[in-house]
Amino acid sequence: RSLAMAAPAVHTLTKPPPPYTSRHVAVIGAGAAGLVAARELRREGHRVVVYERESQVGGTWIYTPKTEPDPLGLDQARPIVHSSLYRSLRTNLPREVMGFRDYPFMARADWSGDPRRFPGHAEVLAYLKGFASEFGIEEMVRFEREVVKVGLLDANDNSKWSVKSRKKGNGDEEDEVFDAVVVCNGHYTEPRIAEIPGIDTWPGKQIHSHNYRTPEPFKDQVVVLIGSSASAVDISRDIAPVAKGVHVAVRSSEGENLGKQPSFSNVWLHPVIKLVHEDGAVVFADGTSVYANVILHCTGYKYHFPFLETNGVVSVDDNRVGPLYKHVFPPVLAPWLSFIGLLWKVVPFPQFEFQSKWIAGVLSGKIALPSLKEMMENIEYFYAELEAAGIPKRYTHRQSKTQFLYNDWLADQCGIPGMEEWKKGMYSAASQNKLARPETYRDEWEDDDLVSRAYEDFARFTS
Ligand code: FAD
Repeated sequence: RSLAMAAPAVHTLTKPPPPYTSRHVAVIGAGAAGLVAARELRREGHRVVVYERESQVGGTWIYTPKTEPDPLGLDQARPIVHSSLYRSLRTNLPREVMGFRDYPFMARADWSGDPRRFPGHAEVLAYLKGFASEFGIEEMVRFEREVVKVGLLDANDNSKWSVKSRKKGNGDEEDEVFDAVVVCNGHYTEPRIAEIPGIDTWPGKQIHSHNYRTPEPFKDQVVVLIGSSASAVDISRDIAPVAKGVHVAVRSSEGENLGKQPSFSNVWLHPVIKLVHEDGAVVFADGTSVYANVILHCTGYKYHFPFLETNGVVSVDDNRVGPLYKHVFPPVLAPWLSFIGLLWKVVPFPQFEFQSKWIAGVLSGKIALPSLKEMMENIEYFYAELEAAGIPKRYTHRQSKTQFLYNDWLADQCGIPGMEEWKKGMYSAASQNKLARPETYRDEWEDDDLVSRAYEDFARFTS
């Protein structure tokens, strides 16, 4: 049985008859998740307010050269820069799979003018702005308003939420009461860093990839980069042409060739760092070492909800946000509190869209949730399966192969078609292509047949 679908039988309750109920709903964040949530909630007849602390929509996709003063992002009082994008970033998914269903992410002259299949970040931001403008979403957004506190108005009533927000600049605070809150604040802003024995006396500089923008500061430096995620791979390639040496320390060397990397004159792959010394040496688990100027942590992010007060009903434990039914609803507070976009190793925008439709339908009463007991049992079962499979807690929201089953389950709840088959095929083809051509997968591929299928599908929405 697949992990995403693991569950004891859940009985769907009888649907209440129309008319469905319109709720007053707060959405936190106007990134891709908040935008599609706002659209779907309003389509379902809800009254929506979106809070966004930036002055524009797009979230992660708003590139800024600005970085935070604490390069590791450990200081909780630091001024936050939301986005973790680096200047050279191109998408790691083909554009055709990335978009929302009826607003295809095809090459269009009126966006950033970047027609590539794996475009630069400016094109994704232009797409999201186009989406917001096409569906009049911005009129629901209160810009430059940071949500600082979300809690129940009355501890005995789950269906009235107080949302406190603060205006950027003048600090003006505002309280408003809502029936429901949908959290869409993203999860690529709060760095996780590696623990390294000896680091306190190591003389070099440390930085987290959240604060990496351009290669120039690494000119002639010896850089040890920790991690094997998409960012680690991209950033090592970004700095290699200017750095003296790039040493990538990876947790698992399965299938990877340690040592000097064949396509580069100055990139090496190592096992994890064992310890570092006062003299600048970085020692790897196999006993080899290098003298380095910089350690660059590409070690991921933590879920972080500093504004949320649920008296422990929802917590983050070793990067597991829980308990959550299907990664969305905390059963005790369902459906009045929900989360969109917690899953990773997925195709994000289409999944946000399914989750949004589900939440909108549940809030209106069109879609029923199982009982509290059934939801809790389902979560327990899911956790037990993760444990039995040896999957660490911090991977609770990592989905990868099970995402399509999960998306189709959501679609089924909503009574709409599941994810397009060409999209699933294209995701697999892109993943395989990336393994086969790690350096060139963004510019060379063999799935043109799927691209044609995608554009046939897009024509339904564009002609
Ligand atoms: P975000 O885009 O982070 O939006 C959250 C919003 O909430 C922000 O606008 C923020 O300002 C706002 N906010 C946060 N806290 C508050 C608060 N307290 N009050 C008010 N507003 C608040 N996805 C892909 O599909 N393809 C890719 O190629 C790809 N590459 C990526 C590369 C990198 C380096 C990263 C970090 C992510 C990448 N992603 C990619 C995933 C990306 O995160 C998702 O595509 C998507 O943008 C996430 O949207 P979101 O709305 O969940 O979060």
